[in-house]
Amino acid sequence: MADVLVIGGGTAGTIAAIQAGRLGAQTILVEAGSQLGGTTTTGGVSYPGLFHAWGKQVIAGIGWELVTSAVELNSDKLPDFTKPTGRQHWKHQVRLCGPLYAALAEEACLKAGVQLRYYEFPTAVEQTSDGWKVRLAGKGTSVEVAAKQLVDCTGNASVVGMIGLRRLREKTTQPGTLMYGLAGYEVGSLDMKALQAKAAAAVKAGALKPTDFNNNIAGFVRSGGGNAMHVPDADSCTSETHTATNIRGRQSVLRILRFLKEQPEFAALHIERMQTETGVRETFRIVGEATVTVNDYTRGRVFDDAVAYSFYPIDLHVEHGVKPEHLKEGVVPTIPLGALIPKGSKNLMVAGRCLSSDRLANSALRVQASCMAMGQAAGVTAALAARTGTTPLSVPLADIRRSLAKHGAIVPKS
Ligand SMILES: Cc1cc2nc3c(=O)[nH]c(=O)nc-3n(C[C@H](O)[C@H](O)[C@H](O)COP(=O)(O)OP(=O)(O)OC[C@H]3O[C@@H](n4cnc5c(N)ncnc54)[C@H](O)[C@@H]3O)c2cc1C
Repeated sequence: MADVLVIGGGTAGTIAAIQAGRLGAQTILVEAGSQLGGTTTTGGVSYPGLFHAWGKQVIAGIGWELVTSAVELNSDKLPDFTKPTGRQHWKHQVRLCGPLYAALAEEACLKAGVQLRYYEFPTAVEQTSDGWKVRLAGKGTSVEVAAKQLVDCTGNASVVGMIGLRRLREKTTQPGTLMYGLAGYEVGSLDMKALQAKAAAAVKAGALKPTDFNNNIAGFVRSGGGNAMHVPDADSCTSETHTATNIRGRQSVLRILRFLKEQPEFAALHIERMQTETGVRETFRIVGEATVTVNDYTRGRVFDDAVAYSFYPIDLHVEHGVKPEHLKEGVVPTIPLGALIPKGSKNLMVAGRCLSSDRLANSALRVQASCMAMGQAAGVTAALAARTGTTPLSVPLADIRRSLAKHGAIVPKS
């Protein structure tokens, strides 16, 4: 029987598995895709943030270790964290090479003794007296795995859903984005007014959708794509919805290319980079033993069971873009352990964007440094629970915090 089974090797799950492995837990990491890192790598959001707040580092640990290793090995540069960013919070996000990060994460898993199972996903989950039985299916594989502790890091709380525990979902979720970059034109030489008129005409004719360029073609071409497009109703919860989401993302890229190529200024237009998946911002959140509300978040509530800090503006993307709401000077929110434990569950945790939180708090908590910190906290807790034969809620908080600090994490003092 394994000690810890982590489902989903994305931003949070990778860190959870490495941490559990480093604590000596027999750990299995199941990832439906071909590499680790999830939205950080396959989703192309290869600029995790935020590790620093108000001139001080607030998130460190295994995520930070991997991020800085990727930056160093690729001769990239860390931002100057001593320089305040004001409202341009993204300046403290760390630009890195996604595929390299995935390779380093994989190496760290292997070194920690984590068994990696790519291209697999759970098809049945059954609670047993001492843990879980999980049926995993993949290409030519169908295996049953027994584990003492289960950590759902699917981003969608998919395993929590399979078990039948409560999850929350908004009627309309935030749009997704297929990350890609365009080049081969001079922004300075563009007649933006004329381009805007042509884009409006193309939308009217059905050749473009406003979401292809976030309703702002000038902004889109200035930024060369990137985060400046939306895929409405993006969803990665099932293979069917994920397929449809990826197709819609790619169709949007084709529409934009064909439209711009018709304009003489874009004769040399080309794609510099393009992801293979549409990044998904929001699906399900769990109902946990604790829930972070936007009020908790914006006033920097230090929860009694805080296991990590989180730092980012409230960042809800809607159809017409996003208007971040910045935190007041000095505020650093925290993440309680209870938000990672589904209410009424035993031997089960989550980490990542599906933590228990209201929608606005979630729009900030979902960012990558916070997900990595959650992953590390879940990895420690699951490993200690497996070692002592108890459930995450019964692991002494002092032990969790001591272990986190020993492994380089920054733990809030409550
Ligand atoms: C377009 C976009 C822009 C963003 N901008 C920023 C930003 O500027 N800064 C920032 O820090 N954050 C940003 N974020 C948010 C952040 O990247 C994500 O919220 C975060 O990475 C989610 O981490 P996660 O571990 O919860 O999920 P993911 O990283 O998505 O990982 C989930 C993993 O689980 C796997 N999986 C799913 N289901 C199964 C299954 N059933 N079985 C096995 N494996 C499964 C997936 O393949 C994936 O690898 C952005 C997100 C998006 C989409």
